[in-house]
Amino acid sequence: MVILPSKKPAKHNDIAFTGQYLGVVEEYLPDEESTFVEEGQIFASKTGLISINDEKREIEIKTLQEENRKTVEVGDIVIGTVMFLRKFSIGINFNTINQKIQFNSSYMGNIHVSQISNQYIEKIKDAFQITDIIRAKVDKENANEYTLSTVGKNLGVIHADCSICGSTLKKVGLNKLKCPFCGSFEKRKIAADYDEVLVRLRF
Ligand SMILES: [Zn+2]
Repeated sequence: MVILPSKKPAKHNDIAFTGQYLGVVEEYLPDEESTFVEEGQIFASKTGLISINDEKREIEIKTLQEENRKTVEVGDIVIGTVMFLRKFSIGINFNTINQKIQFNSSYMGNIHVSQISNQYIEKIKDAFQITDIIRAKVDKENANEYTLSTVGKNLGVIHADCSICGSTLKKVGLNKLKCPFCGSFEKRKIAADYDEVLVRLRF
């Protein structure tokens, strides 16, 4: 006796296992990355959630990792490296979004001088320097440009290197850092957990 595989039609958001029948090519446009076609029948080439676009009649399998959002939204907490300083703003390249590590992220954020601290900041370089790693909140999004804020105790610089010798600066005051190697003092808008960040980052 031959047991025929189940030919149950695929349903949106159901779990599909590798090799599972999903439908026929007359019905759906199969995704090349996550499905394969044999004699007009579509099968899952990986395990994940079935995603059917009713309008375009497209079918694909999405893994849970892909379901994990990797885009930036207002209210997100991001960690990024300061790439440049301007007179009234800085540019940041995001390294993590909500504790998820981003590789080769092309997201860029800006912080205006008025959104750095509750206290008055006269010059950007009294708060940040290039190569600082900072934690910030996303305030606004406008055509892939993000406006960030570091106002608040937990936001600001979490790691900074001495601008003279490159050693990691140690916290010696509210917004004051000292280089243990060359003795130089520098100012920053630091987060409460400066250089003691304990969050576990996820891929
Ligand atoms: Zn130094």
